Amino acid sequence: MSISENILKIRQEIPETVCLVAVSKTKPSSAILEAYGVGQRIFGENKVQELCSKQAELPKDIQWHFIGHLQTNKVKYIAPFVSLIHSVDSLKLMQEINKEAQKNNRIIHCLLEFHIATEESKFGLNYQEARALLTSAEYAGMENISIDGVMGMASFTDDAKTIHKEFQGLSHIYQELKTEFFSNQEHFGIISMGMSDDYPIAIQEGSTMVRVGSSIFGKR
Ligand SMILES: *Cc1c(COP(=O)(O)O)cnc(C)c1O
Repeated sequence: MSISENILKIRQEIPETVCLVAVSKTKPSSAILEAYGVGQRIFGENKVQELCSKQAELPKDIQWHFIGHLQTNKVKYIAPFVSLIHSVDSLKLMQEINKEAQKNNRIIHCLLEFHIATEESKFGLNYQEARALLTSAEYAGMENISIDGVMGMASFTDDAKTIHKEFQGLSHIYQELKTEFFSNQEHFGIISMGMSDDYPIAIQEGSTMVRVGSSIFGKR
């Protein structure tokens, strides 16, 4: 099937309320334009340089999401245009995003990344770490950053039960944060979970945003 057929098929499969991020990393601009042609406007990239060069040459109404690990020294390159950063996992990174957002006279929308897989990974917070961030004096003073929800990746496994459990865990974290820090704050509404192999499970467990790459654009 073609890229446009894949997009239309996935759009039909998922509820209208679930946002589809088309993960275009490593794929050429021509592939993005094919998806754009059937109405896709949200694309996800995980490398700063690749994101910046695609942003420069592609239509300006594309909303670019940054989904990879973000180094503080590279925030400045995406700060002028990025529409959502999915991978915030430290106070230092939040401070840098806030600073660069301020320079660009805008608010940058972000998600807190949580470590929910059993696998070892360097990235992602646990609940205590997130609480430490959200109760810090530094965060209280940040006027140019908006925390809009949470993001996580399940273990790389065929065991559906494990994947269900991990996504359930992230939904639970979202609810707890909502109650403790963001009650009555409409903007805190995103649970970004689910990729090509597990997005149906993620949606069953409450995902509001799926990040789908290979099922749209083919193998990388
Ligand atoms: C690559 C990537 C995806 C998409 O993965 P697919 O399995 O190709 O759908 C989603 N989220 C993150 C963070 C990624 O790096």
